[in-house]
Amino acid sequence: MVRDRYEYQTCPKCHTCIITPEPHYRPLCPIHEEYGFASHSGSGLLKMGRGLLEKHITLEEAAPLAYTCLLCMACHRCPMGAKPSEIALEVRREAWGQGHVPPGLKGAVENVVAHGNPWSQHGGRWSDGIESTPGAKVLYFAGCVSPFRPELKRAARNWAQLLRAAGVEFQVLPEENCCGLPMLQAGAAQEFTQWARDNIERYKGLGVETLVTSCSCCHRVYGQAYPRVAPDGPRVLHASELLLEQARKGALRFQRENGATATLHDSCQSARAMGLTGAPRELLQAAGVRLVEMGRSQGDTWCCGAGGGVLYSDPELALATAHRRLEEAQGSGADCLAVTCPFCLVALGDAAGENPGSPRVVEISDLLVERLA
Ligand code: SF4
Ligand code: SF4
Repeated sequence: MVRDRYEYQTCPKCHTCIITPEPHYRPLCPIHEEYGFASHSGSGLLKMGRGLLEKHITLEEAAPLAYTCLLCMACHRCPMGAKPSEIALEVRREAWGQGHVPPGLKGAVENVVAHGNPWSQHGGRWSDGIESTPGAKVLYFAGCVSPFRPELKRAARNWAQLLRAAGVEFQVLPEENCCGLPMLQAGAAQEFTQWARDNIERYKGLGVETLVTSCSCCHRVYGQAYPRVAPDGPRVLHASELLLEQARKGALRFQRENGATATLHDSCQSARAMGLTGAPRELLQAAGVRLVEMGRSQGDTWCCGAGGGVLYSDPELALATAHRRLEEAQGSGADCLAVTCPFCLVALGDAAGENPGSPRVVEISDLLVERLA
């Protein structure tokens, strides 16, 4: 935590982690927007870190704030180089060891261990009837929550159809084990390491050389967190990256006229952690979709509300954050709000269900598959 102390000491409270500069002054931090206190911000997380170091507060007192952060990384634009969400994660790792964990997030980790996904048991696979190639070098991984809702199942099946249309030979798993994200979010570092190593051994045993996922969260976890604990894993791509490669080669063709008007919600994981903002846009435009941008997009995106495990630990905060995004999407004039991640689809879709005037929330594969030539 020495680095964190340094970061706190250099924080001049410039508010760059809370709001964009003039002329727009757009809010950036979902917890500051919800609670309105400086404690609930990147700057507040730095102060919390110092309070722990200097023993002004206890771990038990710090843990609720650390678990409230959505880990969206919007505050990482700090001009002093601070990364407040990493401090929240460091505190979570200590809190997990001492049992100061929100019950909802603890339950999600227990479900991952017991059932292979954070939501317990589901009523069937998404991939029944999907044509795949056992032993193929490419694994299409839809994400462990895909069987749980009709819209998630549909998205997974869309991607499989698109990959097939693009001439990609791929295998799917009979049951998709969670990537382990809830363990990372909860601070369960040792559990995550073992989980990741077991998953990688399984993929190696199946001959997987490239893992292609349509889940932005899995994309980051497999792409960034796994190599730290299991360095000999497969190459990792978001499905939109592979499809764009195929479209550029002419292997995937779309109708180019009369597409919908959509605005793309960049997930925090894709846009800020993985730098993936161009491929989904280029694909949608190749499919004739007219794109309009929201004020906060790409690296300045606003969290869907599901980040940081808040979907499990604080569903009200998740929903309020999603509603703020929907308002912005509504202001863009788009017919559809398109997402690249099952968790964004759930968070924003649930908010849209409470707001009949909002744009239709869709997964980008919904827009792509209907435009196949
Ligand atoms: S952006 Fe950095 S320096 Fe500015 S208030 Fe936030 S943490 Fe402090
Ligand atoms: S990671 Fe997101 S929610 Fe957490 S303090 Fe930074 S901007 Fe706020």
